[in-house]
Amino acid sequence: MHEDMIVSVDMDASPARLSGAAIKPSLAGCDRDGLAAALTSVGVPARALKMRIEQLWHWIYHRGVSDFLAMSNVAKDLRVALANAFSLARPPVAVRQVSVDGTRKWLLRLPGRFAGEVGHDIECVYIPEEGRGTLCVSSQVGCTLTCSFCHTGTQKLVRNLTAAEIVTQVMVARDDLLDWPGLVAGDEAIVPRDGGRYITNIVFMGMGEPLYNLDAVSEAMATISDGEGLSIGRRRITVSTSGVVPMIPRLGADTGAMLAISLHATTDEVRDRLVPLNRKYPIAELLAACAAYPGASNARRITYEYVMLKDVNDSPEDARRLLRLLDGMPAKINLIPFNPWPGTLHQCSDWPTIERFSEIIFAGGYASPVRTPRGRDILAACGQLRSETAKLKIADRHQPVSATSLS
Ligand code: SAH
Ligand code: SF4
Repeated sequence: MHEDMIVSVDMDASPARLSGAAIKPSLAGCDRDGLAAALTSVGVPARALKMRIEQLWHWIYHRGVSDFLAMSNVAKDLRVALANAFSLARPPVAVRQVSVDGTRKWLLRLPGRFAGEVGHDIECVYIPEEGRGTLCVSSQVGCTLTCSFCHTGTQKLVRNLTAAEIVTQVMVARDDLLDWPGLVAGDEAIVPRDGGRYITNIVFMGMGEPLYNLDAVSEAMATISDGEGLSIGRRRITVSTSGVVPMIPRLGADTGAMLAISLHATTDEVRDRLVPLNRKYPIAELLAACAAYPGASNARRITYEYVMLKDVNDSPEDARRLLRLLDGMPAKINLIPFNPWPGTLHQCSDWPTIERFSEIIFAGGYASPVRTPRGRDILAACGQLRSETAKLKIADRHQPVSATSLS
C-alpha cells in the first residue's frame, strides 16, 4: 500500500450491530411514495401530505441533513414524531480509503435482509477529474455473471440492492466529500472550489449487473436525477451492461440514461469466453440493440468498454475488427487496462500494445481514450476492496480498533 493513502476501518460496523431490533427504519433513499407512507404513519393528514413531502425532500436530498430536528420549517411536533419513529441513517462505512490521486473508496455495510442473515458489503468509488467528479455505484451485491477477468463475478453471495441502497451510496459520498450546499470542503478538496459540486456524474460500473436489477436502478435514478434534490441529470448518469439485450430498450425508455456496453471482444468465439452472457446474446444482437437505443446520436454516443487483456483481445486485427463492427455507429471506445486481482489468469496488455490498438481506433475516426488507472494504491477497481477487507478482518480480528492506518 502507498505511504500517503488514508485508511480507516470501523470494526464496529458489524452486521450484528446493524440487525438490532431497536434500529428505526431509515427514510434516507426513500422516494416520494415512501415519504408519504412515513408521514401518514405519524398522523399527517392526506391534505397536508404534498407540502410535507416536498419539505422533507428538500431537507433530505437537497440539504443532506441526517437529523429531522434540523428541518427548521417543519412543525416542531412533526419533527419530533418523525425522529421518534424513523431515522435518516445511511449505511455505515466499514472501510474508507483515500488515494494519493484523490480517488476515494467506501465499503458500505448493508444489513442482512432477514433475521439471521449476515450483512453484505458493497463498494462505491469517487474519481475526481479536471472539471468533473464521477461516482461509481454498485447495483448488486456480487454478480450472477462470471466474466473471466472480473473479480466481482467470483463472489458467491449475490442479491439485488434496493433503490434506497443505491441512492444512499450517493448520500454517503456527498457526506464524506462535504458536498452539500452550505458546507465548506477542507484542504483535501480536489474538485471545484468555484461553488460547483463534487459529484457531477454517476456511473453504474461498481459491483453487479444493473440490467438484472432494472426496477431498482430506474427508481433510484428518478431520485438521484430529481432537480429538487440530488439533482444529477439523467444525461450525466451512465449505466454499464455486459449485454442483457432484452432489457436495453427498457433502460432507454424508462430512464433515458447514457449507455455503456462492456464489449471486450470482437468475435463471438472470444467474447463467449470473456463474457459468458454472450452465448445467450451474441455480438450482432447486442449491437442491433445499441443501434436502436433512444438518442444514440452523436451527442449521446454509446460508450464501448474494452478491457485490454494480453494476447487475448489486443491484436491489431482486433482493433480493425472493432472498427468494422462499429462502422457507421456513433460511439466512444474506452480502452481499460486490465486491473489484475489475486488468482486471475489474465494479464494486462503491454503499454506499447495498448498504444498501437488505440492509434488504429483513432485513425478509424473514433476517440479511444485509455482509461487512466485511478486509485491503484487503494485497489479502486471492480470487486477489489472486498478482498482486501476480508484480509483485514482476519488480521484484525483480535484487536478491535475504531480507526487504524495501515500504510
Ligand atoms: N456489470 C456491468 C457493470 C459493472 S462492471 C458490466 O459488466 O458492464 C464495470 C466495468 O468494469 C465493465 O466494463 C467491466 O468489464 C470492467 N471490469 C471488470 N473487472 C475489471 C478488471 N479487473 N479490470 C478492468 N476492468 C474491469
Ligand atoms: Fe458482472 Fe460486470 Fe463483472 Fe461481468 S464484468 S462479472 S457483468 S460485474
